[in-house]
Amino acid sequence: MTDTIFGKIISGEIPSEFLYEDDHCVAINDIHPQAPVHVLVIPKKAIPRLVDAGADDRDLLGHLLLAAGTVAQQLGVADAFRLIINNGSGAGQSVFHLHLHIIAGRQFTEGHMAG
Ligand code: 5GP
Repeated sequence: MTDTIFGKIISGEIPSEFLYEDDHCVAINDIHPQAPVHVLVIPKKAIPRLVDAGADDRDLLGHLLLAAGTVAQQLGVADAFRLIINNGSGAGQSVFHLHLHIIAGRQFTEGHMAG
């Protein structure tokens, strides 16, 4: 599926620098970074929202978390980063192709859900 901007980035239709790529996902810099490090980990499979994932996606979801850890290590932020998944427009999701935000390089308010 290439119907979202992330589908087009993954297919190469829209050229983009991959900070990381493996068989199941890619990582790119967010175009509008909210922090010094703001990277998106995007599965190659186009699942619209986290709640649209099914039991078949169990391995993929675990893989995305491991990939996020690998990317955080590569970027030198493994000791302090936050992972965010916005699920649904009411939660701020704007691209309906599942993705994880890696946010780092700024001070986090302890215990603050919104970052
Ligand atoms: P969401 O709000 O869906 O959780 O996150 C979508 C993110 O994708 C936003 O942070 C937005 O800045 C980013 N984004 C939207 N379009 C593009 C694009 O074409 N390239 C990149 N690298 N990021 C994008």
